[in-house]
Amino acid sequence: MSRHQAVRNMDYQDELDDYDGYSEEEDELSPEDRAAMEQGKAAVQAALASSASKVTTAQIEEALWHYYYDVDKTVAYLISKIIDPPKKTPKAVTESNGLEYVRHSSILGNASGSGASLSHHFRDMPWGNIPKHREAILIPPRQPRGGLLGGSSKMSKLQQLAAARKKKAEDKEAQEKVEQTRFQMQDLSVGKPATQENSPLAGAFGKRLKISESTAKGRNPLEGGEPTRHETIEQPLADTTNKQDVMEVNSVQEPPPTGAGPSPFAETLFGPPSGSPKRKILEFFPLPYTEIAPTALDVFSNPSPDDVVLTAQSKAGKKQGDAAGKKSKKKTDSSADGVTNGVGALKVDDAPLPKSKNLDVLSEFHNSESKKTASFVVVGHVDAGKSTMMGRLLLDLGVVDQRTVDKLRQEADKIGKKSFALAWVLDQRTEERSRGVTIDIATNRFETDKTSFTILDAPGHQDFIPNMIAGASQADFAILVIDASTGAFESGLKGQTREHSLLIRSMGVSRIIVAVNKLDTVGWSRERFDEIKNQVSGFLSATGFQSKNISFVPVSGLHGDNLVHKSSDPAASWYAGDTLVEELENSEPSARALAKPLRMTIAEIFRSAHNPLSIAGRLDAGSLQMGDAILVQPSGEKAYIKSLQVDDAPADWAVAGQSVVLHLSNIDPVHVRVGDIVCDPAKPIQCVDTFTLKALAFDFLMPMQVDVHRGRLHAAGRIEAITGLLDKVTGTVTKKKPKIVKPASVARIVVKLESSVPLEAGQRVVLRSSGETVAAGLLE
Ligand code: GDP
Repeated sequence: MSRHQAVRNMDYQDELDDYDGYSEEEDELSPEDRAAMEQGKAAVQAALASSASKVTTAQIEEALWHYYYDVDKTVAYLISKIIDPPKKTPKAVTESNGLEYVRHSSILGNASGSGASLSHHFRDMPWGNIPKHREAILIPPRQPRGGLLGGSSKMSKLQQLAAARKKKAEDKEAQEKVEQTRFQMQDLSVGKPATQENSPLAGAFGKRLKISESTAKGRNPLEGGEPTRHETIEQPLADTTNKQDVMEVNSVQEPPPTGAGPSPFAETLFGPPSGSPKRKILEFFPLPYTEIAPTALDVFSNPSPDDVVLTAQSKAGKKQGDAAGKKSKKKTDSSADGVTNGVGALKVDDAPLPKSKNLDVLSEFHNSESKKTASFVVVGHVDAGKSTMMGRLLLDLGVVDQRTVDKLRQEADKIGKKSFALAWVLDQRTEERSRGVTIDIATNRFETDKTSFTILDAPGHQDFIPNMIAGASQADFAILVIDASTGAFESGLKGQTREHSLLIRSMGVSRIIVAVNKLDTVGWSRERFDEIKNQVSGFLSATGFQSKNISFVPVSGLHGDNLVHKSSDPAASWYAGDTLVEELENSEPSARALAKPLRMTIAEIFRSAHNPLSIAGRLDAGSLQMGDAILVQPSGEKAYIKSLQVDDAPADWAVAGQSVVLHLSNIDPVHVRVGDIVCDPAKPIQCVDTFTLKALAFDFLMPMQVDVHRGRLHAAGRIEAITGLLDKVTGTVTKKKPKIVKPASVARIVVKLESSVPLEAGQRVVLRSSGETVAAGLLE
């Protein structure tokens, strides 16, 4: 930071620290200053040539610092003062130019080792060169001086006239008030009228007010008013001023001066003088900084919002109290604990921190009899019937009741699209999400006897691919929906079916269930089914799916045949295999990274009356429990898990593979976005802006702009380099630094992002360009 910036950025805390003789940054040069210093030093040494050896580096640096890195001035100074100093005494200098360097050097101190040289050093500074005979003598004003706070003592005739008129009006008003009060007092008093001696103000407090009134007179622009709290605050200031001033006039002994009224600026700051009509207005509409503003006084007489939070924290536990204490010490500790404490002190709600049960989550998980959990993504060409199939599945499993579907059917009927009702079961949820209300995640979750399933992607989004990537990056397996109706399969295979299959495979999904849909439209033709089965299995094998991991189910999503229940249509009797749900249950979820550090991609964020911030997603790795601290990347903010839900039910802990909702505390929602990664603060995921990718190209790749997608995270970037083409099977380099990568080739590429995002080795990302998926691969 340059010195100009340092001055601009200086805050009151720094000033106070310096005042206390304590400054952490003392003697330290900012990187910019250090660079300027090094550059200047080199230039000075070059300019001094052989004479450079006569001066030390420290002397050069000091001179450069004082001359703001001005090389010419520094060189001139070094030559005249150190390399070739004039043979004159400080006195001779004084005589030669009439300036009292010696006297000033003692004022300036002996920082450079010689007072005389230091004063010479500042010879061009006007404030250091005032000859004795020209020094101004400070004569205190007899009347309080004006300026901003008191108006000018020299008023123009017009001003005098206006002031006199104003004063007359105010005096008249004050007089009326006194008279009125006197009448009222007479009415009230039964004996002697109240005097100042027996008034409530005559006690110690009254005395104090009086003292401050006398000392503060002449300083306070509101002079002449009755004693106020403002004036008592003024007293120590007045005392200090009296001690410091070299003036011989004792303002306390003087009769109270009658100064000019406050300027408009002063009135804005402190309010109009008492008795002024403006003051009455202000009593109704107080300005925040005016002394009469009750709100302003109250603001400072009550604990500040920070105090309230800190008090609540200290009540909540010693740990938090420590955090608050540490924060106030202006510490620079960047350790994990430091961040925790900092976040604790900055928390937006003052609810006590959740208590951790300190469970051994992994052994809890192994001992529990919880159901197997699995997640899947539904892919396929548009209109293949994905939404309808999922809606029917949820209806047949009892997750959605018949009444809801009937209602949706009525609505669909109104627009002549009765068959849309089932698709709307999922769309309804999407709509809720887009409205930002609390979502019911039950609608994309269902359970069978053995397994608890999560549908990771609700189809039907406009920009489907990024959502599919998000889902596929977390899925244990996929359902590929194919439209078996005449012509539709063929066009589907040319279109999205192929791209989706490639994508899910590159995202690490190895198990796929092909739902050959709409078989009712072809009369449950076995030939059609077999034809599709043959073509698709050949294609999927080429994409990288092993045949043991591919299964086919003939279904009708609209009528629910072979989804949950076997088809009752006699035309479909040739199929004796499993239903779609049975196939799902037979699919073993991928191995869970339970013992790895916590990683969870935030899929959704929402709030409710009791929980200001809740996040939903699936645990990719590791485990967590209530009360745990978590770190959100890339914001680097910490939060605490206030409570959590696993598969909709309240829980104490969760492990990798489970879909969870975490209710967070101690974090501002602005630091949390969909696509961010929740991780273990002790083993956080790093934010990087460059990474190497082993990528499978879907299109031609060359140095070009790309969008990087991982889960719900996407960031703009650029292919910086292609380091080599790789053998698809062995992974060995077949060609170094190719200029271009052809579709279906595997290459090692370096991608640079425009901003840092949380990414780490082993993650799968997809590269897209102009709305097309161009590559997918594994981070190295
Ligand atoms: P998506 O774009 O893949 O989600 O497809 P939709 O679920 O919106 O379905 C597209 C159209 O196909 C709708 O009009 C559905 O009613 C219809 N449809 C879906 N499944 C079937 C089915 O099994 N049989 C018949 N006949 N039509 C279906």
